[in-house]
Amino acid sequence: MIPALREINEVQALYLQFLETLKRRGFHGDASPSYASRTVLSTDNSIYQVLPQAVVYPRDIHDLQLLMELAECEEFHKVVLSPRGGGTGTNGQSLTDGIVVDISKHMNRILEINVEEAWVRVQTGVVKDQLNAALKPHGLFFAPELSTSNRATIGGMINTDASGQGSCLYGKTRDHVLELQTVLMGGELWHSHAIDDELLGEITAQESRAASVHTLVDGIERDKRDLIAAKFPKLNRCLTGYDLAHIRDREKDGRFNLNNILCGSEGTLGFIAEAKLNLLKIPKCAALVNVNYDHFQDALKDATDLMKAGPTSIETVDSKVLQLAMDDIVWESVSEFFPQDERPVKGVNLVEYTADSEEELDAALAEFTSRVDSVIGQAGKSFGYTIARGHAQVNKIWGMRKRAVGLLGNAKGEQRPIAFVEDCAVPPENLADFIAEFRAALDDAGFAYGMFGHVDAGVLHVRPAIDMKDPEQAKQVRIITEKVVDLAKKYNGLLWGEHGKGVRSEFAPEFFGELYPELQKVKAAFDPRNQLNPGKIATPNAASGLLKIDEVATRGENDRQIPVQVWEGYSEGVYCNGNGACFNWNPDDAMCPSYKGTRNRIHSPKGRSSLIREWLRLLSAQSIDPETEARKSREKSFLLGLPGRFKNSLAKARGEYDFSHEVNESMQACLACKSCAGQCPIKVDVPTFRAKFLELYYGRYLRPLKDYFVGGLEFMMPYLARAPQIYNWPLKLKPIRWVMERGLGLVDSPSISATRLDKAMRELGVPYASRASLRAMGPAQRAKAVVIVQDAFTSYFDADVVADTLRLLKLLDFNPLVAPFRANGKPLHVHGFLRQFANTAARNSAMLNSLAESGVPLVGIDPSMTMTYRAEYQKLLGDKAPQVQLLQEWLSEHTEHLATNKNRLQSGSFTLLPHCTEQSNAAGSSRQWQQVFSALGMQLNTQAAGCCGMAGTYGHEMANRETSRTIFQQSWAPKLSGDTSAILATGYSCRCQSKRFADTELRHPLQALLAQIEDSGFTVSNH
Ligand SMILES: Cc1cc2nc3c(=O)[nH]c(=O)nc-3n(C[C@H](O)[C@H](O)[C@H](O)COP(=O)(O)OP(=O)(O)OC[C@H]3O[C@@H](n4cnc5c(N)ncnc54)[C@H](O)[C@@H]3O)c2cc1C
Ligand code: SF4
Ligand code: SF4
Repeated sequence: MIPALREINEVQALYLQFLETLKRRGFHGDASPSYASRTVLSTDNSIYQVLPQAVVYPRDIHDLQLLMELAECEEFHKVVLSPRGGGTGTNGQSLTDGIVVDISKHMNRILEINVEEAWVRVQTGVVKDQLNAALKPHGLFFAPELSTSNRATIGGMINTDASGQGSCLYGKTRDHVLELQTVLMGGELWHSHAIDDELLGEITAQESRAASVHTLVDGIERDKRDLIAAKFPKLNRCLTGYDLAHIRDREKDGRFNLNNILCGSEGTLGFIAEAKLNLLKIPKCAALVNVNYDHFQDALKDATDLMKAGPTSIETVDSKVLQLAMDDIVWESVSEFFPQDERPVKGVNLVEYTADSEEELDAALAEFTSRVDSVIGQAGKSFGYTIARGHAQVNKIWGMRKRAVGLLGNAKGEQRPIAFVEDCAVPPENLADFIAEFRAALDDAGFAYGMFGHVDAGVLHVRPAIDMKDPEQAKQVRIITEKVVDLAKKYNGLLWGEHGKGVRSEFAPEFFGELYPELQKVKAAFDPRNQLNPGKIATPNAASGLLKIDEVATRGENDRQIPVQVWEGYSEGVYCNGNGACFNWNPDDAMCPSYKGTRNRIHSPKGRSSLIREWLRLLSAQSIDPETEARKSREKSFLLGLPGRFKNSLAKARGEYDFSHEVNESMQACLACKSCAGQCPIKVDVPTFRAKFLELYYGRYLRPLKDYFVGGLEFMMPYLARAPQIYNWPLKLKPIRWVMERGLGLVDSPSISATRLDKAMRELGVPYASRASLRAMGPAQRAKAVVIVQDAFTSYFDADVVADTLRLLKLLDFNPLVAPFRANGKPLHVHGFLRQFANTAARNSAMLNSLAESGVPLVGIDPSMTMTYRAEYQKLLGDKAPQVQLLQEWLSEHTEHLATNKNRLQSGSFTLLPHCTEQSNAAGSSRQWQQVFSALGMQLNTQAAGCCGMAGTYGHEMANRETSRTIFQQSWAPKLSGDTSAILATGYSCRCQSKRFADTELRHPLQALLAQIEDSGFTVSNH
């Protein structure tokens, strides 16, 4: 049995007092000093891990003002605050050992869109893609781009002065900020925008923090103009943070603009609460030319020439990134543009053109391609290209490019690409030479790396693969950084070209030289006691120091406390690199419903991965090996362990602390939808390590009754289904429903189907499959045969779908048989009954494998149950796991045969709402369904959709009901508000949830096809 984990790092008394006072003074937001929240927000995407004292989630400006007012009080002068948005910084920007102020949870509303004047006002917790989705119907967009656009916030973008693809045309975030509302230390709210000298004079005459800031900054601009001009480089990616060079834009109107000091200030000067942003018109037309090279270096060198043709942007990726994309779900969407013929592609320039008319675009493309054609095949030039046209196609390729950093993290082994020198900027003409030397340095040190980036702006992302758990390798962070700093200097560039300074601020004093004290004065004017995100960009005085790249605690230092065998035993969880792709804002994306439904980062794949690492570390500190404990608990009799579990549960009920309770809370909120396993670039697979955790947790504590009920349901179903009324009738009674809810914690339990599958099979003449019957088939019969693998959900709760599938297959001249029902075991796995799952899987596999020996394909109907065979079964049984195809996988192999039936179906047009597990883990699913429908003369469109919120039994658990409803409302509900007759869903859960929350009965795709064929007068009886 695992021990209780009580030895955690306690919150300091000062911070507890601060939180209490905050509450007393009327803070509306939430505050959490829980160890779980602190652990989850102790990392970003950098190599660092700094445990905060607490996390607070302000609800409005008033909350931010309270925080700053209180921090100004003498008793709290030692309290430190660090604002945080999406937490995607790569250099520890939002990490602190004080209080994390997470602005993203509540302050994420778009306040006003002014289409005529092309601006928008937002709270700064709004995510960049969320903003652009709201602007799209108005034909407008917020132009600064970044790879993390689906999770990075406007506040984070402003504070790192973010930019990315397209920056040569659109500039940086700063270029699009019109006005800011900033809460300053002490609680003053300051509204900044470009002002003339008259207004500046009025401001400086006042007595306030803002007034002294204006006086100081104006003075620096006047007194140090020449020094500033000499120090700030004239690069597209000029410096971020305290941008003294742009206090006044003397080439334009020369007005004073404090926003240019605030942009890029990394939360060191104030909390930016709201922003008014400039918008641009979405170009009507777009195209992307994918230009291929034999060598990456050729691609880099040629980019300078290609820029002369005036594209909107040029990005480069190397063969490593391309190869990783090929192994990822993203490849399905872009493979047509990267044909894999004989000649290996070692580098690609992605060259974008945008225009307001097709003619204009055609002309630009013609000029560009003729330029490329004229040198094609010459040494150092490209050997070919493909063209993607239209925003939809172009965005798919940008989507692949945006995943590149994450994909790089999916390297095998312990040396993983990490961020610390990944965003150097040099003049574009120096880039190829700079990179050649950079590569040589990494090659000499023996480190692998992948490369991609914005060649047009002279920025290339490089992440050397280092095992930070190894102290010797960790030392390389300084060695390589210093080498790169020198190299950047040699090529007139910068170490911090794009992702801000963070912990790398250490190099600022040397870079700025005699100008650095001016930066310190700016910091001191805003934050005299160094309470705001200290140690970054500049300190207010000589007494307080900047952070140093090798003096801040790293994640590697924590991770190396976990023994190798424990680390390897939880490999599906521990490699999360914090890139934050699982915080995807888009409600129509399957990743991650429990985060979307709660907006609590504890309930995300990253959150769960962080918690499991800390849990393993705390266990390791007590010399506990979880694998050994799991083995022991499987061997122990259930009854013998009962008294111990009872005693521990009593202690839990008395409120005794155990960190495992906090981990459990996070795991319980997971839907086990497996979107993380498919979509996380690192393939973090929460359901797998969650099951291992639950097995151990419930080796120490009593399980809720519902777990036994849910885990055992598959085994009970064949018996219950014999007399469905005995199960269904009581469910209609209020007292029974009350007992189900209060006693078992289950709500809205579905009824057993009125249709009995075995009866329907008899009527259709469909036999059960057996080894003997399959063997006895002649070749012609076998060629058309298929064995339908049952699952408890469709066979017993949605038997019409199975019967209709069999009916359709018969009408389409297939020869369907049905495998005898055996429990699949997925509910057991989900709840961590791993021993029972192993036994169930072994029994079921033996039966299915014996059927598969005949060569007749095995096909499952419910996506989630079917995919258990290739996921959990595969992990357990390896090659011995039965091969069970999804319906669309099998049918799409028979499109020729299907096409022979085309004339027998009435034509029709349908829309598929994809199942989350299917779209995340079987990338070709939608395409395959479309092939099937098209072969039968039907039209099938796919509408992007997130998770429905049901996921097996998750939505039926009382504790999850409201989150389940929230998740449904976010993506599915709006799609079911009109005529739903043509909307189809493959998942049993999705159909069940639509019925429950939208009172809408959706059909399975095969039921729609069946109706089309039966409407034409074909039935099994007349067939
Ligand atoms: C895979 C990957 C790819 C990336 N690609 C790019 C890229 O293409 N271009 C690019 O520019 N960056 C890129 N980044 C870096 C990062 O995404 C950006 O810096 C982004 O702008 C950070 O936004 P965030 O909301 O995650 O901010 P956070 O990381 O939470 O915070 C960033 C900084 O802003 C401060 N801050 C946040 N909100 C506020 C607020 N409201 N008020 C005051 N201070 C605040 C924080 O204190 C911190 O110092 C990438 C990062 C990753 C992991
Ligand atoms: S779980 Fe995956 S997607 Fe989420 S932060 Fe970790 S690595 Fe990135
Ligand atoms: S299984 Fe689904 S709900 Fe659970 S962490 Fe993964 S994506 Fe989130």
